[in-house]
Amino acid sequence: MAYLTLKNINKIYPNGYHAVHDFNLEIEKGEFIVFVGPSGCGKSTTLRMIAGLEDISSGDFLINGKRANEKGPREREIAMVFQSYALYPQMTVYDNLAFGLTLQGVDEDVIEERVNKTAKILGLTDYLDRLPRALSGGQRQRVAVGRAIIRKVGIFLMDEPLSNLDAKQRVTMRSEITQIHRETGATTIYVTHDQTEAMTMADRIVVMKDGYVQQIGTPYELYFKPVNVFVGGFIGEPPMNFLRETVTDGHIHIGPFSLDTSKKLGDKAKDYEGKELVFGFRPEGIVLGKHDNAYQLNAMVELTEMLGDNTNVYIDINGEKAILKVDPHDTPEIDTEITFSIPYENVYFFDGETENVIE
Ligand code: ADP
Repeated sequence: MAYLTLKNINKIYPNGYHAVHDFNLEIEKGEFIVFVGPSGCGKSTTLRMIAGLEDISSGDFLINGKRANEKGPREREIAMVFQSYALYPQMTVYDNLAFGLTLQGVDEDVIEERVNKTAKILGLTDYLDRLPRALSGGQRQRVAVGRAIIRKVGIFLMDEPLSNLDAKQRVTMRSEITQIHRETGATTIYVTHDQTEAMTMADRIVVMKDGYVQQIGTPYELYFKPVNVFVGGFIGEPPMNFLRETVTDGHIHIGPFSLDTSKKLGDKAKDYEGKELVFGFRPEGIVLGKHDNAYQLNAMVELTEMLGDNTNVYIDINGEKAILKVDPHDTPEIDTEITFSIPYENVYFFDGETENVIE
């Protein structure tokens, strides 16, 4: 197991594009870290710098406290799983798993023991004689994961490893990878654009946007204490609702309703007089009807989606769109008006200019 330190890491590509800005992170031994963010935000670039596949333009990268910027990929003792499985098509599952160890000159009996153990962990024991083309997508991806874990390295990097799988396989592999992590204990960095994968797998998540780290925290922290509009909107499904409003006389005015900002912001409300605020609330953070200690709003129901465990209600609040999550038994009729309440503790106010949360 290894611990990693990234200090002020920057990546400027030869064409001058600054893809990663001042990335700072300490990764503890055995931690499962997820880099998440929209496509192009710099996740893979950062991972590739850690793997040694891409030069670090500036900053320090340390493995177990020792500078590793100049170390080649092999010296870093890292195993990597990519989006494409890159299995050898003419080799059986056994040989695919064994290949890396054979190259290292490991003894045949040791190889056999490790292949069998890895196959057992991954549920591949019955498939060791098969060629990759005779496996399902999920099984192939398991072989790819197996090839990485069989090397028993301290650091495990994965770049969107589940993106070629269908929705069901993704859910299964998600929990399998978490399980494998628990068994191997390897320090893991996992890249994905999928917030559900990040939330379900990570010890800590790094949310990135446009090459900048937005927030680093546990899934709980990111969900309940997003630092800005971007993180609030990125984590959670359906995403957080945002209404941009100007404060007059300490209130924001949404349709016929005037919401007293001091109920949530206390004394800080005064600082925002005449300024714009972003009023944020999660679809699941509401209660239907009128309630105390809550902001109350009316909305027209435009569409409902009954999903079984809940219903998504698409609403129009005075021209602005939002989504509410309600109990399926409370699904409202389309084209009717509903009243709902957002308990103060479920409301987030963000500064309209910086988009940072106001605490
Ligand atoms: P992500 O993994 O978050 O989708 P990447 O790290 O792959 O993002 O890319 C980050 C940004 O760097 C993107 O805008 C991408 O176009 C750019 N980029 C990636 N590779 C290169 C390269 N070799 N030269 C120039 N720009 C690159």
